[in-house]
Amino acid sequence: MKIKSHREANSITSRYIYMQNGEVLLDAQQNWLQHLPLALAHSAGQQRPLLIASLGDEDIYLHTVCHSVNWSHEVVHGRELMASLSELEVDLLSRALQLSHWLRDHQYCGRCGAHTQLHKQDYGLYCKACEHTQYPRISPCIIVVVKGPKGILLAHNTRFPEGRYSALAGFVEAGENIEAAVHREVYEEVGVKLGKLTYLYSQSWSFPHSLMMGFLAEYDSGEIQVDGVEIDAADWFMPNDLPQLPPSFSIARQLIDTALEAYS
Ligand SMILES: [Zn+2]
Repeated sequence: MKIKSHREANSITSRYIYMQNGEVLLDAQQNWLQHLPLALAHSAGQQRPLLIASLGDEDIYLHTVCHSVNWSHEVVHGRELMASLSELEVDLLSRALQLSHWLRDHQYCGRCGAHTQLHKQDYGLYCKACEHTQYPRISPCIIVVVKGPKGILLAHNTRFPEGRYSALAGFVEAGENIEAAVHREVYEEVGVKLGKLTYLYSQSWSFPHSLMMGFLAEYDSGEIQVDGVEIDAADWFMPNDLPQLPPSFSIARQLIDTALEAYS
């Protein structure tokens, strides 16, 4: 997938992703990448479909559909859809979701309250009244699997389905560096101190606009003591005794699988 700026349209064919209130609209054949531009697709704060990428020789456009339009086919949540997509398609849908959230949440200028419009050159929402431009918001987050003598440390977040455990994660705070965020989050949520950190890879996580930076960490000291607010259970797990894990397209699962290799 090639990320495109919205000046770069040059492909012969185009496909469209339609989103409404952060959800993906499917056509009658259950396609989320649709061939026909949609006459009904009134935009919310957006004058035209937004070119977001190219896939092979096709240009891909995002069109946000006004909430008042009654969609006659299926509507799906992006996370549900991602479970059945290829890695490339996940990247594309992730980008579309993030941009659709941004378009929806920045229809008005954060500085003076006037209506915004798409910037002519950049991915920006521009305010004519005060000349302020708002760019797509990206929130850095850390996600970490701790490796200890009794296995890997996984936790149950209060928002998870019953029985699902995952890596610990949290937002980087203002003025904080990434490494400090890893140490702080783990200590706050489960009371464990960490030794050496190893950065592995990152993933854009569009629910709604996170950039997840994935780490493995060595256990240093402390007994598990969950915070009872975000995390209501945590434990050490060996490969032969795992709880229900997050889906394979998530960075959480990829980190877990990598961390488990040390115990096989
Ligand atoms: Zn303004």
